[in-house]
Formats: sequence, C-alpha cells, structure tokens
Amino acid sequence: MTIILDGKKVAQKLKDNLRIEIEKLKSKFNRVPGLAVVQVGNFAASNVYVKAKTKAAKEVGINVIDHHLEETTNQGELINLINQLNDNKDVDGILVQLPLPKTINEEVILNSIIPEKDADGFHPLNVGKLSISQKNDESLMIPCTPYGCLLLLRELNINLTGKNAVVIGRSNIVGKPMAQLLLKESCTVTTVHSKTINIESICKNADILIAAIGKPEFINKDWVKEGAIIIDVGINRIKINEEKSKLVGDVLFNDVKQKVSAISPVPGGVGPMTIACLLRNTTEACKLKYHHQDELIL
Ligand code: NAP
Repeated sequence: MTIILDGKKVAQKLKDNLRIEIEKLKSKFNRVPGLAVVQVGNFAASNVYVKAKTKAAKEVGINVIDHHLEETTNQGELINLINQLNDNKDVDGILVQLPLPKTINEEVILNSIIPEKDADGFHPLNVGKLSISQKNDESLMIPCTPYGCLLLLRELNINLTGKNAVVIGRSNIVGKPMAQLLLKESCTVTTVHSKTINIESICKNADILIAAIGKPEFINKDWVKEGAIIIDVGINRIKINEEKSKLVGDVLFNDVKQKVSAISPVPGGVGPMTIACLLRNTTEACKLKYHHQDELIL
C-alpha cells in the first residue's frame, strides 16, 4: 500500500507544538514571536501566499507585523524598512514575499535582512552555515521548503543513511538546500537539472526522488523506481476548461502512486510544511534571544 505523505497533518502537528512553545515564551518572558511580512505590489500568487502565512502565524500565536507596500516602492525605501525591522526588538523573523517588482534587486534585499531574522533562510550566512554546520545548530535558519520536505521524509521513520537521493532542480530556494539537507542525513545525493544528460535513468535509480522543477505532471511512472519515495515540491496551476483550473505538482500523481512506496500529494503535501517551517524558524529565533534552554521541539 502506498503511503500518502499528508503534509497538512504533519504541519498541524508541528504547529500544535509551536503553539505550546509560544505559550511558554509568553508566560516566562511576557513575549510572543514577531514575524514581519513584507509584500511589494499585488502579484496574485503572492496575495494568496501572504494570506496563508499570516493566518497560520496568527493561529499559533505569532504576532504578525504586516507591511504591504505600493508597487512603486523603490529599492532604497524597501531597504530602509528592512533596516527598521532589523532594529526592531519585537521582530524575530522577516519575510519578504517574492517575487519583487523588476525594479528591485531581490538579492540585495534578501542580503539586507540580518541572518538572525532571516525566517526564510535565504541569507548567504545561513546558506553557508547549512553547508558547513553540524546537524543541531539552533541558530541556523533552514530554508523552509526543503526543511518541510525533510520533515515529511522523517515521518516515514526510515533510516535515510546511504539512500540514493535524487533532487530535480538546482534553485537557491529549493534544489540546492534540499541536496545539502539530504547530504547531512548521509544520503548519496545527485542533483539534476535542465542540462542533465540521461536524466530519466538517473531518476530511475533514486530511492528518494525530490521533484522541484515547476513543470506540471512532468514525472511519470517510467521515471521512478519500484518502491521509491517521492516528494513533489512543484506547484503548477493548469486549466481544466475555459472557467476552471486546478493545482498540480511536478509528478503525475495517479500514474506514479501505484509504483512507489510513499508520495506527497499536491496540494496538501509540501505546501503546508513550508508554512509551518517558516513559523518554526521565527519561533526558534525568538527563543534564542531569551537563551531558552528547553529542548528543541524538532
Ligand atoms: P526554479 O527556480 O524555476 O527552478 C527550477 C529548476 O528545475 C531549475 O534548476 C531547472 O534547471 C530545473 N528544470 C527545469 N526544467 C527542467 C527539465 N526539463 N528537466 C530537469 N530539470 C528542469 O523553481 P523553484 O523555485 O525551485 O520551484 C520549483 C517548483 O516548486 C515550482 O513549481 C514552484 O512553484 C514550487 N515551489 C513550491 C513550494 C512549496 O511550498 N510547495 C515552495 C517553493 C517552490 P536549470 O537550473 O538548468 O534551469
């Protein structure tokens, strides 16, 4: 029987734990974690993501400080705001929703967030730490989507050591940090991308296959090994007819499901985990400020 990795359920468990941690912070230090959510303009998908992240943060007791700026905001103005948030002691995590308008350099903006408040884990210092630090470095902000994928894998209670893991995609936000995390778990990791030769045969050797491509239902059963574990990161909106559309992943779910041992669905797989990990990073950043000595909850 194929296991469907229920991201909603696992994310809920993580959020329930965070709520308890936040209650403890509140009673001990009269303080809850603060997350600044910065959006520039009105990109439709960003509106949806910001709404979902804000709702989830409030549900666990995080204080959300919302900054929705005009499309015409320039880079200097945005950096000024980030500097203020960097200095604001009530802010533990800063999330700048991407994409930004084309007139603003995303790299400059992301690098202007101090690493301690880098809730998305995109700052070069956190990226570097992910590569060189030990497993349990509490100050490390791990990129939310790959971390969510790892937590989903952990739900299977299997030994990841020595597993042959293939990551499809080499983006800075998913593919590369995913490969680093799996390497830390002692998997043998291969990263493939659009220029990879014989990609299908490489994927077919994977015990664990992570698809982060951005191409709807690209991976079919011919790409996967019997009994493999599949994590589908892709979020693609496809048209069903003139009026209706739906979300699908990078994996042709029903086709692949019959051949593998476990698979994450889209929606309801990696997406909710990404949000839960953002809340986790913000809460950990707040806890660290108080030199909170309790056991890490993850
Ligand atoms: P991205 O920056 O566009 O990267 C896509 C990667 O896929 C690139 O490395 C690209 O290779 C590779 N690729 C493209 N076509 C390919 C092909 N035909 N064969 C093999 N590799 C191919 O995308 P991303 O930001 O990593 O996101 C990937 C997907 O995950 C998207 O659908 C996105 O919406 C979704 N996503 C979901 C979440 C979530 O929370 N669930 C979070 C983030 C992203 P090259 O480098 O050679 O171009």
